[in-house]
Order: sequence, then structure tokens, then C-alpha cells
Amino acid sequence: MKDTAVLKNYLSDSRKIVITTHANPDADALGSSLALYHFLRSLGHDVAVIVPTSYPDFLEWMAGNDSVLNYETDQAKSDVLLDAADLFFCLDFSGFNRIKSMREKAESIEAKIALVDHHLNPEIQPDFNFWNDKAAATAELIYDFILDYAGPDAISIDIAECLYAGIMTDTGSFKHSSTTSKIHRTVADLIDLGADVNKVSRLIYDTNSLDRLRFLGHALAEKLHVDQKARVAYFVIEESDFRNFRLKQGDTEGLVNYALSIKGIVVAAIIIHKENEIKLSFRSIGDFAVNKFAEEYFGGGGHKNASGGTSDLSLSETEEKFKSLIDQNILQTHPE
Ligand code: 5GP
Ligand code: MN
Repeated sequence: MKDTAVLKNYLSDSRKIVITTHANPDADALGSSLALYHFLRSLGHDVAVIVPTSYPDFLEWMAGNDSVLNYETDQAKSDVLLDAADLFFCLDFSGFNRIKSMREKAESIEAKIALVDHHLNPEIQPDFNFWNDKAAATAELIYDFILDYAGPDAISIDIAECLYAGIMTDTGSFKHSSTTSKIHRTVADLIDLGADVNKVSRLIYDTNSLDRLRFLGHALAEKLHVDQKARVAYFVIEESDFRNFRLKQGDTEGLVNYALSIKGIVVAAIIIHKENEIKLSFRSIGDFAVNKFAEEYFGGGGHKNASGGTSDLSLSETEEKFKSLIDQNILQTHPE
């Protein structure tokens, strides 16, 4: 029996359900969570979405946004819901290290676990498994789940737009190699179900502040390092940049893609110092598996062509470490 059928059987009784996703939620994380929230509520369950940290304000238009709890600021209320939950949905992540301060609580609760995710090497052992690394987005898996469970009539315009946002962003606006004919068919269905793709695209991409655009100019002019020989380009962003350009959460998202867009570059990175943390993002074209690279050298992971990690070193030491890895030509020796 497929897990949808098993879960459907389990959900034939009214359940208390908590949905969560990874820290610093992106459009796929939040869109999938809210789409599932609307669907499970329509079935009559008691549902809450709890996110481990805040998310950028260009995601706040999503229906259900006002009901989302942030574990960092609503911990007491969240803990009550987590303790009482029958079912705990983990969306768009597959290791509890991705949910930051929620981790300890999540690992201690009695609830059954459902995993809906498309990242490699899942660590979570779920009771209901919807993991598939071939999916372009977790939103695609949620779409398939709802369709399988209840058919297209269960997909409201709100659900369709949340799912479209996740698919549009996780495929890089239908440019990544994850963009299959199936994902285009899924999106065609979402449009038929009422998703306004122009509205969603504008709400996510066309909400730049002038500060963010000025920062982009500054980063491209001053912060971009290019090693044509190694075919690597990377940005290093300091805490002072956040202050000087009054950057908000999400304002550095997508920057790494400019490095990857340079002719001849096959690996791109961004190293960011923010709030006492050094965060790295990696992107690649073709065979070089940045998830393995992130896992081996920066305690992270992700997808073959898009990954991330962290560093306990200082910003300059992290840059040195990254540069020495380039110099050792390690980037070129990490094929899939
Ligand atoms: P981004 O660069 O957009 O923050 O992340 C790209 C992808 O890398 C994400 O979809 C996620 O799979 C993965 N990722 C980013 N940061 C981390 C991290 O610290 N640990 C792990 N395991 N994966 C990460
Ligand atoms: Mn995703």
C-alpha cells in the first residue's frame, strides 16, 4: 500500500497536526507548508504551522501567513502544540539539524512523523514517507499527495498559488535541470486551478528595495572574486554590508547566481557573515556535486547543484579555507 493510502487511513480520525519546515524558510518551504495546512484543515483536522525562524517579508502574502508560529518568538505556544501533536509533518528538510532550536523538542515528542522532502540522504526515519529526490520542489510532492488523496477539486486557488511559488523558485523559474515535462504539466494544472502566475512572480521577485539594488551593485563591483582558471567565482559579504545597505532577511538570496552566470564559471559560492554566523551557499553547473563538497568541508549538504553549509572559523579564515580548496583543485575533483 502506498504511504498516501496508509496516511489517509490514519487521517480518517480527527488528528492534531503540526507542520514544520527548515530554518530561514524559502518559498518552497513556506508555500508547501501553507498549502498542506489549508488542505488538512479542509479535511477537518486541527493544524498548526511552526517555523524555526522568521522568513523574508516577500513571502508574507501567502494565504495563512498570519497563523504561522515562529518558534524563536512563540516557543511556549509552539511547545504546547508539539507536545499534543498526533502527527508531525517535516517539509523540505530531512535532518533535524536544519530546524535549529526546535530540534530538541522535535526529537522528544511522541507524534508520528511524515516526511515530505526532496533533499539527498534523508536522516529522519518517518512513519509516513513522501521523500523523493527526483522532485523539483517539495511543493511538487505536496501537489502529488493532495491529488492522490483527494483529487483536483481539493486544490483551492490559495493552495495552487502557494504550490506555484515553491515550484517557480526551486526550479530557478523553470531553468534548473530539475525542470521536467512533469513539472510543467503540474504548473499547467495549477494555472487551470486558478493560480495567477504573474501575481505570484511579481510578489516574490519584484519587491526590491532601493537599498537591495544598491547593495547588488556594490556586491558585483567590490565583493565578487573570480578565478577563471579554476572556473570558480564567489562573493564574500561582511556584517558591515548588512548595516550599510540596511539589508533585510532574504536580500542576499539569489546573489550567488550572478557569480554562476559568468561565462566559463562552473562553481559559485557566497560566504556571508551575519549575526555571529558564517553561512556558505554553493551552486554548480554540470557534474560537480556541491552537496558532497558542502558536506565534506562545511558540515552542510543539499542538492547536487545547490547546497549550503556553515563555518566556525572567522570570515577571513573561511575565505582562506575556501580559496585553498580551489587552489588544491578540489572543486574539479568532486564529480558526482
Ligand atoms: P541556499 O544556498 O539557497 O541557502 O540553499 C541551497 C540548498 O542547500 C538548500 O535547498 C538546502 O538543501 C541546502 N542547504 C543550505 N544550507 C544548508 C546547511 O547548512 N545544511 C544542509 N544540510 N543543507 C543546506
Ligand atoms: Mn525545496
